[in-house]
Amino acid sequence: MKVLVIGGGAREHALCRSLSQDPAVTELHCAPGNAGIAQVATVHPVDQLDGAQVAALAGRLGAALVVVGPEAPLVAGVADAVRAVGVPVFGPSAAAAQLEGSKAFAKDVMAAAGVPTARSYVCTTAAEAAEALDAFGAPYVVKDDGLAAGKGVVVTSDREEALAHAAACERVVIEEYLDGPEVSLFAITDGTTVVPLQPAQDFKRALDGDEGPNTGGMGAYSPLPWAPAGLVEEVLETVLQPTVDELRRRGTEFSGLLYAGLALTSRGTRVIEFNARFGDPETQVVLARLRTPLAGVLLASANGTLDQLEPLRWDEGAAVTVVVASEGYPAAPRTGDPIEGLAEAEADGTAFVLHAGTRTDEDGRVLSAGGRVLSVTATGSDLAEARERAYAAVDRISLKGGQHRTDIALKAATA
Ligand code: AMP
Repeated sequence: MKVLVIGGGAREHALCRSLSQDPAVTELHCAPGNAGIAQVATVHPVDQLDGAQVAALAGRLGAALVVVGPEAPLVAGVADAVRAVGVPVFGPSAAAAQLEGSKAFAKDVMAAAGVPTARSYVCTTAAEAAEALDAFGAPYVVKDDGLAAGKGVVVTSDREEALAHAAACERVVIEEYLDGPEVSLFAITDGTTVVPLQPAQDFKRALDGDEGPNTGGMGAYSPLPWAPAGLVEEVLETVLQPTVDELRRRGTEFSGLLYAGLALTSRGTRVIEFNARFGDPETQVVLARLRTPLAGVLLASANGTLDQLEPLRWDEGAAVTVVVASEGYPAAPRTGDPIEGLAEAEADGTAFVLHAGTRTDEDGRVLSAGGRVLSVTATGSDLAEARERAYAAVDRISLKGGQHRTDIALKAATA
């Protein structure tokens, strides 16, 4: 099977790594890819937001499956364009990807499906925003309605800051604050059947101790030893299946990856957000533990045959990933710096380095090319061992001004 992956971050590197290890995959291509992906796949300089270009590439390559990684191409209709030329695609249509592309749409679907989530108001004026903030009280949660790469949400007790964020966005969702630990649960679906993956937790804030600004994600781990037994089944029953059923009922069938961001609050499990694609960096740890070859799972979603899929097999151990970000991330990331120690980080075979924002220069040196630069991942018999291995690998890498959190999976590993 020839497979084409769309995207160029660490999530796509993780997808490509797993696909490259699947004996069913005879050729692996990625567009646009990055310096790390180029080591396991043939990369193509294609605009990932241009459905016509992606569909043409898939046709030229004779791809049997196209896997769309990031949200922006999905919302731009790239999966639709590929489907239109008859190539199976893993990823929802633009209409279904509105589940991520519009927080207001997601809230509407959840209300119709009876899915537990934070109470919320959609606001377009300063007066509406002020009224909604006062209705819920502090801490305030203000979300840009549209796509914002994980950075459109402000959680603050400062009413002025909350109002300022609302004013800076065209349309916002203001909602009640959810306390309790967060869980990311991914599910593969073909629009009818839903197959949950293993839960993971990510770390959204830039600095240790969950301080600093929100980011795209600074690290992740799986499994969650502290999570209640039966969580996956509960979320399947109360969140994932009803959402997939509601979207099918509306005629906007959702196939691909449904990502539920959950808060385990004192009053029960609530959805914080949906995403329409694999989460980054949780994918790095979830796929590190998946034993079932990946291509067949993704193809079953694309072909609508998930009901025939064998139960997924998982590594009983743990996985941890630590994101190495560039200086100034997330506000003003500095790029173009050489990265050293990549081979050394992988030398003892206990960790692997997934590339996010990297590129290769004329001399073959790997340079930073984005805010999140690397996702250093390790597995182990438990979280403590996976953590130790991941951080040992991080320590072997040098990037001028590079930053990473030192507390990824720390609490879970020592609890
Ligand atoms: P989102 O982009 O919706 O995932 O939000 C980013 C982060 O903001 C989440 O991971 C949470 O940490 C936080 N957040 C979002 N919504 C809420 C909420 N209703 N209550 C508390 N924290 C929230």
